[in-house]
Amino acid sequence: MIDQDAQSRRPKAHAPAVLDAEQALALNRLTAVLAEHLDGGEPIPCNGSDALDWISDQRAAQDRAATACHTCPALDACARYVLDHPEPAGVYGGMTTDDRRAARAA
Ligand code: SF4
Repeated sequence: MIDQDAQSRRPKAHAPAVLDAEQALALNRLTAVLAEHLDGGEPIPCNGSDALDWISDQRAAQDRAATACHTCPALDACARYVLDHPEPAGVYGGMTTDDRRAARAA
């Protein structure tokens, strides 16, 4: 079951519409990591005022978001999540959708 309290603090950019059970567990684990950082006072960039960049279909916005991800304390956990659970859109773990497609093809 997804931790609803932590889920409510999860950036809207990272709320896939349909999850299978395994992905839901993985997302819950990532959400817990994000919540720990937020509770510790460490900002999560995609939870800030530019959050729409993470779900934009514009390349420039995605690039800004991907660059900002590299200051995120949860970067490694987020990148692992999205490489294991491909998301069709949005920026995750410092990677745009094109970056992830290229990483999977390599
Ligand atoms: S790595 Fe990027 S997408 Fe993932 S939680 Fe951090 S800021 Fe958000």
